[in-house]
Amino acid sequence: MVPYNPDIYVFQSGKRTGQTPVVLMFQDYGILRWMLSRVRKEEAGSFKNDLHLHLEWLINAGEEVEPTQNCPICKERKVRSFAVRWGHAGDFSIDRDYTFCEKEECKQEIQAFSYDQGLTFLPFKFSSLLQFRKGGDRKRIVNLLKWAFGIEGRITRERAFHFFLNNLTVQE
Ligand SMILES: [Zn+2]
Repeated sequence: MVPYNPDIYVFQSGKRTGQTPVVLMFQDYGILRWMLSRVRKEEAGSFKNDLHLHLEWLINAGEEVEPTQNCPICKERKVRSFAVRWGHAGDFSIDRDYTFCEKEECKQEIQAFSYDQGLTFLPFKFSSLLQFRKGGDRKRIVNLLKWAFGIEGRITRERAFHFFLNNLTVQE
């Protein structure tokens, strides 16, 4: 089997004509997951079309991306996760100071800062966006992800593509 060689995929039809999955990772992650499950159902056999291959590559890349920011607690390792601190009205706060690396001590420090608040810990992966139903909430999470991954400014299709591509190739 020929290994998949990713390139920028552009939708050629439908209401997303002209848009790219690499940019939609930041704008509408849920729709990409839905599209992937749909093409998987439609193509039950071994054949995978371009969109199927592209989405599998991209969704996987979104789980493998490596944060570049240092843990604000130990300042030694890279951040891995962030805390979502819940308010009583179902609102939540997130903050760069409430992120941490894989060390248990750093996580415990966050817990100690937050005493009585409800906490959820989520990894710096794109799938964490699925935990938030409102578009405005997801936007806040995307901004935190962008910070953790060292992405500044506007997401163009070229920047987004190289971001996902490089993260995966570095790991090989
Ligand atoms: Zn740490």
